[in-house]
Amino acid sequence: MKAINKIYSNGEFLTPHGKEILDIISPTTNQKIGEVTLGDEVDTQNAISAAKEAFQTFSKTTREERIGYLEKLQSVINRREKELTDIMVEEYGGTFQFCAMVTQNMIHDINAMIDTLKDFAFEQAVGSSKVFYQPIGVVGIIIPWNMSNGFIITKLSTAIAAGCTAVIKPSEMSAQQTQVIAECFHETGLPKGVVNFINGLGDVVGAEMTRNPDISKIAFTGSTAVGKMIAKGAVDSMKRITLELGGKSPNIILDDANLEVAIPTAIFAAYLNSGQACAAATRLLVPENKLDEVNAIAKVAMQNIKVGNPKNADTVVGPMVSRKQYERVQDYIRIGLEEGATLLVGGEGKPEGLEAGNFVRPTIFTNVNNDMRIAQEEIFGPVLSIIPYKNEDDAVTIANDTHYGLAAYVSSGSKERAYRVAARIDAGRVCINGISHDSKAPFGGFKQSGIGREYGIFGLEEYLEPKAILESL
Ligand code: NAD
Repeated sequence: MKAINKIYSNGEFLTPHGKEILDIISPTTNQKIGEVTLGDEVDTQNAISAAKEAFQTFSKTTREERIGYLEKLQSVINRREKELTDIMVEEYGGTFQFCAMVTQNMIHDINAMIDTLKDFAFEQAVGSSKVFYQPIGVVGIIIPWNMSNGFIITKLSTAIAAGCTAVIKPSEMSAQQTQVIAECFHETGLPKGVVNFINGLGDVVGAEMTRNPDISKIAFTGSTAVGKMIAKGAVDSMKRITLELGGKSPNIILDDANLEVAIPTAIFAAYLNSGQACAAATRLLVPENKLDEVNAIAKVAMQNIKVGNPKNADTVVGPMVSRKQYERVQDYIRIGLEEGATLLVGGEGKPEGLEAGNFVRPTIFTNVNNDMRIAQEEIFGPVLSIIPYKNEDDAVTIANDTHYGLAAYVSSGSKERAYRVAARIDAGRVCINGISHDSKAPFGGFKQSGIGREYGIFGLEEYLEPKAILESL
C-alpha cells in the first residue's frame, strides 16, 4: 500500500497543511491500494505565491533555456516510461494498450512543443507596429482522472514553452500517478516554484485556484458542468481560460465506406479508454438501408473486444474508474432500454467472472433516435449508440444536433467526399477513416465542448498575451 503524504510546492516535496486523508481504491479489485493526504486552501495559496515569485525570473528566460528544460523533461519521461504506464493501469484501471499509447504520446507532445517553440515568432511586425508576445503569468491547471499525466504534459510543456509558471491540481483519484510525474519534473532541474502539484478536492484546491487573483489563467480539462463553474468564478479576476470539456462525438459512416473495416474501427473508437474518453466516438451514424448489415458486422466485431484485467495486453475494456462511474453507466443502460432503443450487445450487470471490480458489459444499442438521452448525454463508459440516417444531409444534421462539438469521425471510400462532409461538421477535430492524433494540430471544442485550443501554435498562443507597440514618427 502506498501512502502519498506529500505535495510538491516551491521545488520541494512537503507535508501539506491539509490533514484530510482519502483512500485510493483499485477499480480492478475494489481493494484499498493506497491513501493520499489532501492539500487545502493554505497549501494552494503557498504554491501560488511560489509560482508568482518564480514567474519574475522564469518569464525572462530565453527560448534556448526553455527548450533545454523541455529536452530534459523528455529524456526523464523516456527513462521512466514503463513506470508511468504501469501506475496508470494500476491506479485508475486504464488498459495497458491505452496507457502505453498515452505515455508514448507524452513524449511526442513534448517534442512537438519543442518544435513549436523553436519556430514561434515572439516578436512580429503587424501593420506599422510591433507585436510582442509575453507570458501570461501564473497558470492554474485543473484536470480529470482519465488521462491525468497526459493532460499534465500537454499543459505544462506549453506553459514552460511560453515562460509561464504553474500550479497543478490533478484529480484526487490520481495521487500515485501525480507522485511519479512530479518526480519527473523535479528531475528536470526547473527553478523552484515553476511547477507545483497540489493533491486536493475540486471545491477546496480548485476553487481557491479559480478565485485567487494571483492566477492569470486557468487551463481546465473536465466536465462541462465544472467548466461552467470555473468560467463563472474566473471572470471576477478576469482570468484567461481554456476549457476542454465533454463530448458526444458522431462517427459518420458514408454509404461508400468499407463496412468490414469501418465498423470494427468505430467500435474501437467508441471504447477508447474503456469508453472513458472525451473524444470517444459514441454516436455511430450509418445509412438506414445498411443498418442490418452494420448490426451483423458489429456483433461479430464485439467478439474481439476483450473485457478484463487492464494489465493484460489484449484487454480492450477495463474497469470503470470508480463504483460511482460504474453506477452511472448502469443507469444509462437502463435509460436506453426504457427509451426503446434496441439492445444489440451487452446490457446491465457485470461480465461473468469479473464481479469484484467495476467492470461493465460493453454495450451497443441500435436503432437509436438522436433525441434519446443515450444519444445526447455523455455516458463516459463503453456504451455505443447506432443511429440510422436517410442521406448525407440527414447524417450531417444528426451529427450537429448536439450541445457538444469536440471531435467527429467520417469514413468514406472517397477522400474528397470525406473532406466535404468533415467541413460541414461543427467539431474541433474531425478524423477521416480512423482515429488519429496530431501533436501540432489544434484540439478543443465547438459549442459546449469548450473554449480555446491546445497543441502547437494554437495552444502556445493561449499562454501568451500579445502586446502591440505603436510608434509615432
Ligand atoms: P470533473 O469535471 O468532475 O473534474 C475535473 C477536475 O475538476 C477534477 O480535478 C476536479 O477535482 C475538479 N473540480 C471539481 N469541482 C471543482 C470546482 N468547483 N472548482 C474547481 N475544480 C473543480 O471531471 P471528471 O469526472 O474528473 O472527468 C470526466 C470529464 O472530463 C468528462 O466530462 C470528460 O468528457 C471530460 N474530459 C474532457 C477532455 C477534453 O480534452 N475535452 C478530456 C478528458 C476528459
